[in-house]
Amino acid sequence: ELPPINADFYNVDEKLSPEDRALQLKVRNFMEKEIQPIVNEYWLHDEFPFEIIPKIAELNICGLTYEGYGCAGRSSLMEGIIASELARIDASVATFFGVQSGLAMGSIYLCGSEAQKEEWLPKMQQMKVIGAFGLTEPEVGSGAAGGLTTTCRKTENGWILNGQKKWIGNATFSDITIIWARDVDDDQVKGFIVKKDTPGFSVEKIKDKMALRIVQNGLITLNECIIDEKDRLQEANTFKDTARVLQMTRAGVAWMAVGCARGAYENALDYTRKRKQFGKPIASFQLIQNHLVEMLSNLTAMQTLVFRLSELQDSGQLKDEHASLAKVFCSLRTRDIVSKAREVMGGNGILLEYNVARFLADAEAIYSYEGTKEINSLIVGRSITGFSAFV
Ligand code: FAD
Repeated sequence: ELPPINADFYNVDEKLSPEDRALQLKVRNFMEKEIQPIVNEYWLHDEFPFEIIPKIAELNICGLTYEGYGCAGRSSLMEGIIASELARIDASVATFFGVQSGLAMGSIYLCGSEAQKEEWLPKMQQMKVIGAFGLTEPEVGSGAAGGLTTTCRKTENGWILNGQKKWIGNATFSDITIIWARDVDDDQVKGFIVKKDTPGFSVEKIKDKMALRIVQNGLITLNECIIDEKDRLQEANTFKDTARVLQMTRAGVAWMAVGCARGAYENALDYTRKRKQFGKPIASFQLIQNHLVEMLSNLTAMQTLVFRLSELQDSGQLKDEHASLAKVFCSLRTRDIVSKAREVMGGNGILLEYNVARFLADAEAIYSYEGTKEINSLIVGRSITGFSAFV
């Protein structure tokens, strides 16, 4: 009789309240039963499973940490656990959810007026309105803080937006997209809630991605779009406000990396116990065990790190450099874990049906989005040395 596969080696889950544990298991069960069976097919065909949206909405996990507006007001820790549970089965579904619940709702929650929150958050919580977050541009990625070329200009009829946004998750079908643009008058970054039927707003799907293929990323063009003042995020006055959203979502991405690594590790461990070579399970070979232990060591370090990260968040102590350190460490270690998981599975490791190939590919996107390793490292570097290497 083999021991059960236990990827929570230090029993971190023991620290959860019974209520949190119940929600964790509910989400895990949903992901295993409803998402696992369909995910490879959608990933292969580069399509989004729209039928899952009402099912995820029913779990009542969207906008989990926000107070009011139909949101549950639960802890950041619980939100992190959910991100990890989603990514443990599929990082694309976790990303779709992160864009909706974190980036899009978070922009409105953190930077919107009372009226804007009341107008959008309850519908987004129920996932009846789907959101996207448009910061990155074709020529501006890491340098978004000072370099946005999408412009906004105030006129008598409202604001006029011009420019392009690239890589925008959910944008091909989102009802609203948060667009970040530079004001030509005061040179500051402002945010806008742009509805999909706005004249001059168009989206082209980015095709042939080799990672997160279920996520529908769009190239957005804004051509003389007129946006009412009431749809400008009233509390977004500089890029520092955009960064408040990113601090929160980067912490979520660290948790997603943990889930992705865990899914790969569990699949790989299971495989090595069943696969026989030289008349024995390959899990009995010393060199395979060494790989598995290295994977588990990294996974355990990540799990304990993100747990503390969320404690900092929940006690109001989280700083940009905390979120950045966790995002760098976890996405880097995840890249290593998924690659080892692939390795111990031999040729089958590159077949979609064995479930690890998808994690291997998806880890590349997690590694680069929400700030690359270099950019998040420079945020930490600035905080520990006192010197900014950005400019
Ligand atoms: P670049 O900025 O061109 O960077 C290229 C390389 O140069 C990187 O290795 C980078 O680290 C390095 N580099 C840049 N500057 C420095 C420096 N100062 N010092 C050292 N190295 C440096 N954006 C959104 O706004 N909304 C979304 O929903 C969204 N979803 C995404 C989904 C996916 C699947 C992907 C891949 C991206 C998504 N993005 C989204 C964009 C993402 O945030 C950017 O890809 C990321 O910020 C990096 O920008 P870039 O790709 O333009 O790379």
